[in-house]
Amino acid sequence: MSSRMLFNAGLVDYSGHISVRIPGLDHLLILPHPVSRATVAPGDMVVTDFEGKLIEGKYRAPSEVFMHARAYKARSDIQSVAHLHNHMVAVLSMVDKPFYPASSNPGAFFGPGPLPLYMDPALIHTIEQGDAVAKTLGNGEAVMLRGHGSMVVGQAIEWVFAACVDLEEAASRFYKASLLGSVRVYNDDETQRVMKGRRNNSVVQKVWDHNVAKTKLMGLMEGI
Ligand SMILES: [Zn+2]
Repeated sequence: MSSRMLFNAGLVDYSGHISVRIPGLDHLLILPHPVSRATVAPGDMVVTDFEGKLIEGKYRAPSEVFMHARAYKARSDIQSVAHLHNHMVAVLSMVDKPFYPASSNPGAFFGPGPLPLYMDPALIHTIEQGDAVAKTLGNGEAVMLRGHGSMVVGQAIEWVFAACVDLEEAASRFYKASLLGSVRVYNDDETQRVMKGRRNNSVVQKVWDHNVAKTKLMGLMEGI
């Protein structure tokens, strides 16, 4: 369902994925490599371990599953991970200028300071590359991948979905504001106050419910 919602929101196309940790196991659930993000169904999903090895499923895992696997390995606090080829974030990752999400309310979700940037543009096809991305992410919620997209992590799939929506909106606003002049980045106090209002279950649920409704209206929830 969340994959179709990300597709409908324009945040994944033929690539990109969202996964969840399987509680109590060092395993994750993710959509498979070959199935369209617009039509993927629950029975298509695959399970891998944190080395990226297929445990269960009739298809192979996405080639960049290592990003997910190693993020879970590094961060016991996260329950869901998304990897997006999100357009505006990818654009901002291409310039030698830090991206401060906290210059707009959606961006305040990510807290103060510039978003970390993973510099290697190669696709993440090994455990070592996955570990390197997780290291750049640190304790944050998102990391930009240069010329590629981003990885977003969080405490639940609804939180990660809302963060994906907020990140692309923040990037789009930051890009447009940058064209007009120097951006008025929120100071620490402003960031904390806006973040307090943004990072709560009712806002996250509202974003989620709205996108469920929007995806249904587009006729993309059939079979779920
Ligand atoms: Zn990718």
